[in-house]
Amino acid sequence: ACLGKMLYRSLGTGMIRLHCRMMTKPVLLWLRQDLRLSDQAALVAAVQAGPVIPLYIIDDDTPRHWAMGGASRWWLHHSLSRLDESLRAKGSRLILRQGKSADIIPQVAKQAGADSVYALHHFEPWWRNAEKAVDRQLDLHLYDGSLLLPPGAVRTGGGGIYRIYTPFARAVMTHMPPPAPCPAPDDIPAPSSWPTSDSLDDWALLPTSPDWANGFSKDWTPGEAGAQANLEGFADEAPDYATGRNLPSIEGTSRLSPHLHFGEISPATVWHRVTGSDEGTTTFLKELIWRDYAHNQIVERPDYGSANARADFDALPWRDLRQAKRDFTAWQRGCTGYPIVDAGMRQLWATGWMHNRVRMIAASFLIKHLLIDWRHGARWFWDTLVDASYANNSVNWQWVAGSGVDANMFVRIMAPLVQSEKFDAAAYIRQWVPELADLSDAHIHDPDAHGVRPPAYPAKIVGHREGRERALAAYRDVKG
Ligand code: FAD
Repeated sequence: ACLGKMLYRSLGTGMIRLHCRMMTKPVLLWLRQDLRLSDQAALVAAVQAGPVIPLYIIDDDTPRHWAMGGASRWWLHHSLSRLDESLRAKGSRLILRQGKSADIIPQVAKQAGADSVYALHHFEPWWRNAEKAVDRQLDLHLYDGSLLLPPGAVRTGGGGIYRIYTPFARAVMTHMPPPAPCPAPDDIPAPSSWPTSDSLDDWALLPTSPDWANGFSKDWTPGEAGAQANLEGFADEAPDYATGRNLPSIEGTSRLSPHLHFGEISPATVWHRVTGSDEGTTTFLKELIWRDYAHNQIVERPDYGSANARADFDALPWRDLRQAKRDFTAWQRGCTGYPIVDAGMRQLWATGWMHNRVRMIAASFLIKHLLIDWRHGARWFWDTLVDASYANNSVNWQWVAGSGVDANMFVRIMAPLVQSEKFDAAAYIRQWVPELADLSDAHIHDPDAHGVRPPAYPAKIVGHREGRERALAAYRDVKG
């Protein structure tokens, strides 16, 4: 009897937990662009509800156009692998499946004996459709946490959503700071048996022949720890952000965009770490609000990635891509003859990321100097950016084009050579366009004007004035 009592004492707690686990139905944790354990409201709620089955699905139901691009797939592979390691350290694991989320989730639930699903709200139109379809079949619990505030939380006096960023940001600021982030659970209860899982390697997310992403790992560490490291590296520099963010030659921004996109870090975590009322920090926090602004727009207009928000832009006489193919290819490859544009496009190809100031210049050049429809540029970014986000990419491309819901920017034609000098891009150009590395700071922005000819470096594919006038004439046609 004594031995029995001792055994019961030492095994008691574990047995009770095991017993509870066997009695409680498991729940599914449906992960998408929220690949983290910290400040994960859906995970916290799932842990309270029962043994948790974390599930990631490569969704076949995403419209073909918006299936993940190559650079995002590279990121996803590493992010999922790190997430699985973190889950295993807490007694759990990641189940991987491929197919339509609306079919796979009920299948996994049936196999596991679960009838509840926990997830964070997502706002891409295909995710909202999938959420509705899952909700019709199972008990779906959705939580906030992907944005600072849920879309629609701030509204104009008339009750609509804000179309202009500045008043939107002002309204969001009155609700800040966001709730303090919650820590990752110490332990994630596991089910008594695991459903079957695909193998990550079988998904073949990484490029092989050729391995065009082999430079990415020098710049990036996907996963929660990489996100935290970028945040820590940036937090003390935030006071310099107001000027630093415009200079592509220095690392003046947080480089958190892919981590935020894949949800490896929550915007609330970023907000609470980068606090302060100085100009630099305030400017940074307002940039973070741009992300919320963009998501509000795609909720209001789910076709933001494919349709002009201003209908008059439907009549803009873009050049036919078949005829403009040579120019489009030169832009994609960074061979336009404009060093700042070429440096940006080559940085994008080599690292999956481009500095924001240069994104604006490169996008403006495509849309205006080359008169190529913004949608072709947005698609190229979609495929090549590690932070490719339906909301941020679509809203920013339409912002540069002037076809978006906010300010009409079409007639604001950025002069690439002036921008390059103004924002001191010489060192940036030397890094990404090495054939110009020997030029002086005074000559590097416009090598053509200083006698550099092909094959040393491409000639300008269009003159600044010529491109500008063609764009303005096309725009006059619309306003006609
Ligand atoms: P920081 O300057 O450190 O800003 C912090 C965070 O705020 C960013 O990580 C990002 O999440 C958010 N943010 C900053 N600027 C913007 C903005 N203009 N719009 C929305 N969110 C912003 N950003 C993406 O995340 N994905 C995209 O697909 C994307 N496509 C773009 C396309 C074009 C044509 C342009 C002009 C901009 C695009 N941006 C996009 C916005 C911006 O360029 C990037 O968010 C920024 O360069 C990322 O670097 P960072 O993390 O160092 O940003």
